[in-house]
Amino acid sequence: MMPRERVLFVDHTGQIGGAELILLDVVQGRNDSSAFLFEQGPLAKALAERGLSVITSRWGLGLSQFRRDSSWLKALPLAGGLAAITVELARVARRHDVVYANSQKAFVLAAVANLFARKPLIWHLHDIISPAHFGALQRRTQVFLANRFAAKVIVPSEAAAAAFIDAGGRRSLIEVVPNGLAVEPVPMSRHELRQRLGLPPGALVGVFSRLAQWKGQHVLIEALARLPNVHGLIVGDALFGEQDYAAELRRQVADLGLGDRVHFLGHRGDVPLLMQAVDVMVHPSIDPEPFGRTLVEAMLARVPVIATDAGAAPDILEHGRAGMLVPPGDARALAEALDAVLTEPAILEPQLAYASRRARAHYSLGRMLESIGLLIRNVRAGAAV
Ligand code: UDP
Repeated sequence: MMPRERVLFVDHTGQIGGAELILLDVVQGRNDSSAFLFEQGPLAKALAERGLSVITSRWGLGLSQFRRDSSWLKALPLAGGLAAITVELARVARRHDVVYANSQKAFVLAAVANLFARKPLIWHLHDIISPAHFGALQRRTQVFLANRFAAKVIVPSEAAAAAFIDAGGRRSLIEVVPNGLAVEPVPMSRHELRQRLGLPPGALVGVFSRLAQWKGQHVLIEALARLPNVHGLIVGDALFGEQDYAAELRRQVADLGLGDRVHFLGHRGDVPLLMQAVDVMVHPSIDPEPFGRTLVEAMLARVPVIATDAGAAPDILEHGRAGMLVPPGDARALAEALDAVLTEPAILEPQLAYASRRARAHYSLGRMLESIGLLIRNVRAGAAV
């Protein structure tokens, strides 16, 4: 049955990061719903292709380029635009049954708009509200608004739930819905895939995420400097104002003389193919991750995973049973783990089979869509009583 609720999905960015890929799944089949974006970008087109009517704010601010460490002085000229967006948002929200904020910035504005619109508000919180990621004032503002205005807060992991509660968020608001993915392995050998994609033969490892300091691509590069003959793919681009970090990574590669072994592929739309072509998928984040879609993508593709032991990763990888864990920010430990996996890949066969079963059982797309669909229905029904 087609969902009948008219949902207004709100996102601050026009770019497609991990949170937006989830949104694109959540909106499937919701032709009566709309999306409100703060800025232009590829996300608007992708949402329209899924049948939603898309409203892009006239005040497009480039808020996605405003990073958490940006000076608040930079925010001052934005203040007028923010107020205008909030008014616009409140007006559009009135025509819907439920408002669904898909990012932290979207939630803050939607919560204020809700003072006027008075519609049940869901916050899909894709971030981990820990001191590593947000300042004290930001955390306090977010949980204050959530406690006051959110009907439900969806988080993808227990780690993200714990951070929300630690910051003062109400436990009863939380609904843990793990991200779900539907990626089928491609029926091609690693060798064939490498040829098709123009990738080098021999030992090849990869990291697949937007370029950002806390995603830790620099740690992988440092580890590769310790592993002669191993090539690395750095897949992803600086989506949210991290261009300086992207430039630093290229400098680091040049300084270490790794230009012929480290390959920057930029943002790609064929991650499942690339991932299945590498010998190891590395997830080197130095700060806790709220989830980590690429972990599940690798598990489904039966590719060995080495991830840092923080945030949701130990949970997803079942503390090492479904993938290897190393301490965050430790290039030497990462190099040793990579060396172990690359030298004796056969040892991992049972782990790979287990990881793929675990991913299918716990992180399926169907399960995520069912939970979120039910939640939207309940929130609407609750508001109607
Ligand atoms: N991704 C992509 N193209 C790229 C790099 C990454 O499509 O060039 C995808 C990746 O496959 C994953 C998502 O972006 O599905 C990143 O999600 P994750 O949870 O790992 O990180 P986030 O960006 O949400 O912090």
